[in-house]
Amino acid sequence: MPEVPALYVVARPQLDAQAIEAFLDDENTSWRRTPDSCSAEEIVEIAGRICYMSFGERQSDRTTAEYIANLIDQGHHSVLEHAVWSFILTGVTRAFSHQFVRHRIGFSYSQLSQQYHDESGATAIMPDAIRRNSEAARVWRRTVEASRQAYRELLQLIPASATEASRKEGIRQLRTAARSVLPAGVETKVFVTINGRAIRHFLAQRGDIVGDEEMRIVSAMFLRAMRTEAPELVADFELVDLADGLPLVRQRASPAAQSG
Ligand SMILES: Cc1cc2nc3c(=O)[nH]c(=O)nc-3n(C[C@H](O)[C@H](O)[C@H](O)COP(=O)(O)OP(=O)(O)OC[C@H]3O[C@@H](n4cnc5c(N)ncnc54)[C@H](O)[C@@H]3O)c2cc1C
Repeated sequence: MPEVPALYVVARPQLDAQAIEAFLDDENTSWRRTPDSCSAEEIVEIAGRICYMSFGERQSDRTTAEYIANLIDQGHHSVLEHAVWSFILTGVTRAFSHQFVRHRIGFSYSQLSQQYHDESGATAIMPDAIRRNSEAARVWRRTVEASRQAYRELLQLIPASATEASRKEGIRQLRTAARSVLPAGVETKVFVTINGRAIRHFLAQRGDIVGDEEMRIVSAMFLRAMRTEAPELVADFELVDLADGLPLVRQRASPAAQSG
């Protein structure tokens, strides 16, 4: 069971170059591609160029990176919605996921159920702020273990009251009742699909809240993943290591914003 967050990129955008060629042929035009640009970045560029049909002679000298930077700078962010990734996020707390799923637009979620999944062996995740203090860590471990023990005891005690329901609904009733004693720090897993615009919104809104350590850690993981997947979509974000040893994601002001 993971006790630290892990982020797996399990699906990513794939441009169909042949279909794009067919489209360009039908339109009797062409597209000069930037060497080494990735599929996601090219999808964003193509979507942007469709708006102005800026192919062939109408294509400027801009590279894909410059084209995307300009789109972002101009606030034409809807184009980034065409690039979509799926992630599996594990080793995060239910407290974190509560905040995470507040992001509604451009996010789709599937999360581990505490009704269908027996949480008797659930791991709880110790916050770094507690890990740094041995006395706090002792209190935390004692309390979490007591909760876990209570959960297991309740599973044994309640079944008699669930005889009215079908077996499946009886188990749901039982686990729903027993989970009420589980701590907010219990580990969960989330399958999440997010588009490029929404990832940027999440990073901008959540990445640099100094006191929210778990959110900082996860934001940094998303930024690192995106730097591998489509670096130009997050080129205006930076990773900063703070004195507490944890990362912070910060968005640099755009040239347009700087010039007012
Ligand atoms: C520092 C901080 C403290 C917070 N504290 C709390 C708290 O105490 N309690 C709490 O409940 N939540 C809290 N939140 C969560 C916050 O209110 C948002 O629900 C969450 O951050 C998602 O942001 P969002 O709505 O911009 O994102 P999304 O839901 O992804 O929406 C993206 C954007 O789409 C637009 N949009 C989405 N829905 C609508 C709509 N219905 N109408 C019009 N435009 C829409 C908005 O422009 C929005 O920014 C906090 C967040 C932060 C960053």
